[in-house]
Amino acid sequence: MRKLASVQVVNAAEPIPNADAIERVRVLGWWVVVKKGEFRPGDPVVYCEIDSLLPERPEFEFLRPSSFKPAQTDAAGAVTLPSGFRVKTVRLRGQVSQGICFHPSVLPPGAPAEEGADVTDLLGVRKWEPPAPVGLSGRVKGGFPGFLPKTDETRVQVLEPVLARNRGKTLVVTEKLDGTSFTAFLRAGEFGICSRNLHLDETDPGSLLARLATKLGLADRLRAVGAARGFDPAVQAEVIGPGVQGNKYAVPELTLRVFNVLDVGTYRLLDHAVMLEVVRELGLEPVPQLGTVVLNHTVDELVALSEGVSVLNPRAQREGIVLRPAVEEFDADLGGRLSFKAINPKFLLKYDE
Ligand code: ATP
Ligand code: MN
Repeated sequence: MRKLASVQVVNAAEPIPNADAIERVRVLGWWVVVKKGEFRPGDPVVYCEIDSLLPERPEFEFLRPSSFKPAQTDAAGAVTLPSGFRVKTVRLRGQVSQGICFHPSVLPPGAPAEEGADVTDLLGVRKWEPPAPVGLSGRVKGGFPGFLPKTDETRVQVLEPVLARNRGKTLVVTEKLDGTSFTAFLRAGEFGICSRNLHLDETDPGSLLARLATKLGLADRLRAVGAARGFDPAVQAEVIGPGVQGNKYAVPELTLRVFNVLDVGTYRLLDHAVMLEVVRELGLEPVPQLGTVVLNHTVDELVALSEGVSVLNPRAQREGIVLRPAVEEFDADLGGRLSFKAINPKFLLKYDE
């Protein structure tokens, strides 16, 4: 689980060229612009990551002019996300700043003080999500099925120890596309589809994802390949195109780009090469393949590597990259597969994220 707000220790402070009043401090693998002298290396801080939604409390009021977000409600008027202050990537005097540092006194008395302590709930911090686009999900069958893994990628900025431990490993690099997560699966012969967090009704004509599945004939494709391969497959893909995240790549129609194939019966993700074969057999396309790197990078070097334009449209900044070994591996720190993302700061700034 992502810790949006946590107790951390400042690990460096550096000047910013041509700036007297501010400097940058490093927390985990993030750089945060702060008032000069406010924090020194070794100081404990409460660090809030980008995408934090801070509650309306006096100590956060200074964020109102730049960051206030009104409450989000569902069709029935019920609050789905309260109002608050959204933390996002900004650039100050040329320096990218990601997150906010507070003095530990922002915490209530008796709060945990040890490095790494998760204080997200204690501070009332929520995860900022843009309002859900209408028509994307449609009729819901239930929560995300327990027999499928959710599609999450951890940010490289919190993974310094993972990078150190995996030094020398060859990793496959793909372009991270900014669309919406989609899963299509077979299970004991039954076909189903899911959005990022929900099991959807695959027959709902009001659902963009269900219409796409029908148009592509995904049920038949999964059945044919499943029969030939002897297992129930699930594909996990990013859906991009008109109506999704502003169609940043300006593709003419809804498009699936696969990043995972799973053997549903055994709950195993296929290794990269086999995954690509199965994607080809399904007549689908994978996410853009950017080659491999031998991991000897710092966090900052991986963030630099994430910068660039999209393979799908050179006029679009790419969202970032995803890195994984060619053969699936479990990682104890990640508590799951070894796989992580580096997000392109230029993308975050351009799209105000
Ligand atoms: P966070 O809370 O960390 O911001 P998030 O909810 O925004 O996470 P994403 O940033 O969207 O999640 O990262 C994971 C998602 O990236 C996956 O669910 C998947 O839909 C999408 N994705 C796009 N391209 C790829 C790719 N090449 N490899 C893996 N996942 C990809
Ligand atoms: Mn995202």
